[in-house]
Amino acid sequence: MRIYNTLTKSKEEFKPIEEGKVSMYVCGPTVYNYIHIGNARPMIVFDTARRYMEYKGLDVNYVSNFTDVDDKIIKKALEEGVDSEVISKRYIEECKKDMEGLNVKPATVHPLATEEISGMIDMISTLIDKGYAYKADDGTVYYRTRKFTDYGKLSHKNIDDLEAGHRSINVTGELKEDPLDFVLWKPKKEGEPYWESPWSDGRPGWHIECSVMSKKYLGDSIDIHAGGEDLIFPHHENEIAQSEAANGKTFANYWMHNGFLNIDNKKMSKSLGNFFTVREIADKYDLQVLRFFMLSAHYRSPLNFSAELMEAAKSGLERIHNSYDNLMYLYENASTDEADESEYKEAVDKYIKKFEEAMEDDFNTADAISAVFELVKYINQNVGDNTAKNVLKLFIDNLSMLCDILGIILKKEEKLLDADIEKMIEERQQARKNKDFATADRIRDELLSKGIVLEDTREGVKYKWL
Ligand code: AMP
Ligand code: ZN
Repeated sequence: MRIYNTLTKSKEEFKPIEEGKVSMYVCGPTVYNYIHIGNARPMIVFDTARRYMEYKGLDVNYVSNFTDVDDKIIKKALEEGVDSEVISKRYIEECKKDMEGLNVKPATVHPLATEEISGMIDMISTLIDKGYAYKADDGTVYYRTRKFTDYGKLSHKNIDDLEAGHRSINVTGELKEDPLDFVLWKPKKEGEPYWESPWSDGRPGWHIECSVMSKKYLGDSIDIHAGGEDLIFPHHENEIAQSEAANGKTFANYWMHNGFLNIDNKKMSKSLGNFFTVREIADKYDLQVLRFFMLSAHYRSPLNFSAELMEAAKSGLERIHNSYDNLMYLYENASTDEADESEYKEAVDKYIKKFEEAMEDDFNTADAISAVFELVKYINQNVGDNTAKNVLKLFIDNLSMLCDILGIILKKEEKLLDADIEKMIEERQQARKNKDFATADRIRDELLSKGIVLEDTREGVKYKWL
């Protein structure tokens, strides 16, 4: 398996630190609003990379954080007159709902920055002890950038060019030794959330959060660190400076970055206001269409969002669904159980190989999808009323397997039986028996939010989909 590594600007053969295992950290969103579909791109593409590695038998420890302390969260909290925690908790929940809709697997751990403050204080202390950081008079702690001689190795920037850029901006009023130094800890302002530290009551800088969460959940050195390409500089460059100076080890061996999702060839972003939330798209499309759209391009290429491309994704996905539904129908109605399948097996293996070759080449999902389309075409040309069950099953299993690697759900029942509906109905019945009507109502509302309506009938509780 070859992965394009931003660090070396080349595709490299992937060799995990520990055989059979992968440690992977993906920078997660700052939670102050619904996520937009640009934020969904890293979630989808790196989830697909994870799924492929799991398909290959690798045990992937996948960590993705939520940045739940940040200026934007604080601003939103002030606007609404609530605690920042109310805002971050709300949008973490909403983000998780969107991820579920996009069939993005939950991470092994989703750490929250606010729950890892003591680890941040420890790492900052280590950096100060080693001379890589210093406290200014106002209680801010800065990283001494020039001391880290490898600074710029990820973004391929020259430190002197950076310095020239900073000089022209000429930030005043800061107590830095050098314009290149960046914040590790900042003192609180009135009304802001804060934590006690040896330097001031305050909060961590954004970059230190990821260094610490990655170390805690995955160790000092990890296999893959990933995120959108806007994070290469300064976020990931600073993470490397912090982690490698503090731990004395290589931080991450492979750095993966997805290209931007654009609108009219401009990066979709909250600040430009040119965004669609995942929720808005969900009003118009099944989110599987959005996932399929994202995977129709290579993850490193820029991708322009447009109604036409979404429609194309929709009809492409329908082609796969139709083929699958037809296979299921034929399977249920087949009159022959067994036939020689060797010829079909050979053909299927050829398409699987094509799919794998595409994914082995830096997760080329666009080509992998082409292989799925070729398989679908072959299936459609080779099945009919007389096809035996074992042949149909061969097609069903392999088509499902490839779609599952892409995170595309084919079985409608999977969604129906999902969420343990029956179990929830039973719990609700039990709550009603115990006269715990609050719980009963909560369960009913929860089901309703998933589009399931309960009906109390003489035969018991029945449910139907809205
Ligand atoms: P943020 O909440 O801005 O920190 O972003 C969370 C993740 O989404 C990061 O990995 C960003 O690089 C990524 N991201 C944000 N906007 C886009 C976009 N328009 N296209 C692709 N990735 C994006
Ligand atoms: Zn990060």
